[in-house]
Amino acid sequence: MIRRVDPLERLTAATRERTAAGLRRTLRPRTPAQTLLDLASNDYLGLSRDPRLAEGAIEAVRTWGTGSTGSRLVTGTTELHTALEERLAGFVGTPSALVFSSGYLANLAAVTALRPGLIVSDRGNHASLIDGCRLARCPVVVTPHCDVAAVDAALDGARDAVVVTDAVFSVDGDLAPLRELHAVVRDHGALLLIDEAHALGVVGPGGRGAAYAAGIAGEPEVIITVTLSKSLGSQGGAVLGAPEVIETLVDTARSFVFDTGLAPASAGAAAAALDVLAAEPELATRARDRARRLAASADALGLETTTPAAAVVPVILGDPGRAVRAAEICAEHGVRVGCFRPPSVPQGRACLRLTGRATLEEAELTEVTGALTGVRELIGPYSARNADPTR
Ligand code: PMP
Repeated sequence: MIRRVDPLERLTAATRERTAAGLRRTLRPRTPAQTLLDLASNDYLGLSRDPRLAEGAIEAVRTWGTGSTGSRLVTGTTELHTALEERLAGFVGTPSALVFSSGYLANLAAVTALRPGLIVSDRGNHASLIDGCRLARCPVVVTPHCDVAAVDAALDGARDAVVVTDAVFSVDGDLAPLRELHAVVRDHGALLLIDEAHALGVVGPGGRGAAYAAGIAGEPEVIITVTLSKSLGSQGGAVLGAPEVIETLVDTARSFVFDTGLAPASAGAAAAALDVLAAEPELATRARDRARRLAASADALGLETTTPAAAVVPVILGDPGRAVRAAEICAEHGVRVGCFRPPSVPQGRACLRLTGRATLEEAELTEVTGALTGVRELIGPYSARNADPTR
């Protein structure tokens, strides 16, 4: 007799295990009437609902339609795309740029198309860089977090090496030692790929990014990736660097060649966001200030946090269950925060992630302190005693 097995049973069993480990994730649709104060999004400058961006998107749709209609190399490049590329390059301080339909795809393209002989990757890097390393099919050395000496050692004797790092790390919110990394990379004749997803719009003068602030954005060995979906309030990504790099991407990057071009509305909104940043350079300073104040509140309450370099503020709680409960407590206080658990963060580093949005008002900051006080009271301070025993 043929025994029928449920082909999905193994998935159900794995889901049960994730449930037991506190690792289930839920999609919580936002509604137009949402009342929670947003400290969970990446809308660092509060531009995603700015009428000027909406107008840019609407105008782009009127002129170019709702879809880009094809891959960039066929019909998916409009004048809007090339103008946006020029503006992004000018803003970040690189000679040229190429836009993608997401930052994720921009990272895959940048890592793989450089055809590295060796990749040296910080262990805190974003998943899209890690996936780029996997697709690059070359040796990868993962170095301890922000360890320049380890990068130097890994590059010894290497050929065609690429060092890959986030500028601002997406959960811990700290800044990579870009100047030091650049010096090491230059000494070894290597390339430095910097993901500015969390830095653009927040770090550097007027939000031009961490590479600009470090004075290395236009250096020939520096390649920068950005997303249009965080500070710029739109959707999409870009790779910026020397013309030789951009030509290589256009000819060979699979996530460029085989993907439909960025939607006109997204390009229009991103271009409008660059206008806003040029007119209001203080937005970047304000986002950093709000982040510092959120971190100071958490610290004063005895919660573990970091000194934020940009808008990202972690509150480290250790165990995933404790982090989920803390996020619920914040929601009960009217504040929506991010909740990060493995595999998004290392084991034992589950945390809340708060966004220091530029538009946060005084009363809202007070509200957040109330929520964090609730977290502190119900959960207790993070310490070695109550940390995840598996850590
Ligand atoms: N890099 C980093 C550091 C990110 O945090 C993200 C998005 N979370 C990306 C790249 C991907 O960008 P996008 O969302 O535009 O695909």
